[in-house]
Amino acid sequence: MIDTHCHLTDARLLEQLDDVLERARLAGVERMITIGTDLEDDRAAIALCRGRENLRCVVGIHPNYTQTASLADLPELRDLQADWAVVALGEMGLDYFHKFADRDHQRRLFEAQMALAAEFKRPVVIHSREAIDDTLAVMKTFPGVNAVFHCFTGSLAEAQRILAEGYWISFTGPVTYKKNDDLRDVVKLVPIDRLMVETDAPYLSPEPKRSHKTNEPALVMYTAAKVAEVKGVPLAELDRVTTANAERFFGWGQS
Ligand SMILES: [Zn+2]
Repeated sequence: MIDTHCHLTDARLLEQLDDVLERARLAGVERMITIGTDLEDDRAAIALCRGRENLRCVVGIHPNYTQTASLADLPELRDLQADWAVVALGEMGLDYFHKFADRDHQRRLFEAQMALAAEFKRPVVIHSREAIDDTLAVMKTFPGVNAVFHCFTGSLAEAQRILAEGYWISFTGPVTYKKNDDLRDVVKLVPIDRLMVETDAPYLSPEPKRSHKTNEPALVMYTAAKVAEVKGVPLAELDRVTTANAERFFGWGQS
């Protein structure tokens, strides 16, 4: 199993990193992809991968961190692409829910990162919150860039639009929450070969560990188990398929 999206550089995980990685290993989560949210965090994510063959990272500027970022950050983000540990760009996108940065500024940084992904022929990890129309409109102008909509919690109609564009969908802990039958209907819809699972740790602990304030990669197994149940396949099969999906999407582990 690969936890395809966690934030291991977050202090809550970093301060107990050896234990976090050991618990992941014991749970069968052999590999993890840690995600950077701004240049400083991107550099930290790359440093974290040093000497750890089972880690890779995705570097970019998260929409909710764009208020402290600018287009002047792009040259360094380009330089970071050369590092062996980097497998994709992100997370990037638009967040109209939190409103930490104005929409035009978010969009400029999103477009600049999409252009970088097109240049490096790299996939992107998309964060989109209450902004699906504008997110897809930007992405349409970069037709060659493959993308995963991470931490998907949107509607069936939104999922259909994402799939119609050929993009991927990734599920987190909320898929295990009792009241989220609508989200489980989305799981039913997404073809198993275009689906991934992730924790988004330290956020969004899955049931039955929802009371854990700090989510961690080991707990991705609960999300995977719920997705397997909804799909009507054994967990081992879902593990095998989603691992192969992540390898294919991120180009990690293919020989
Ligand atoms: Zn994230």
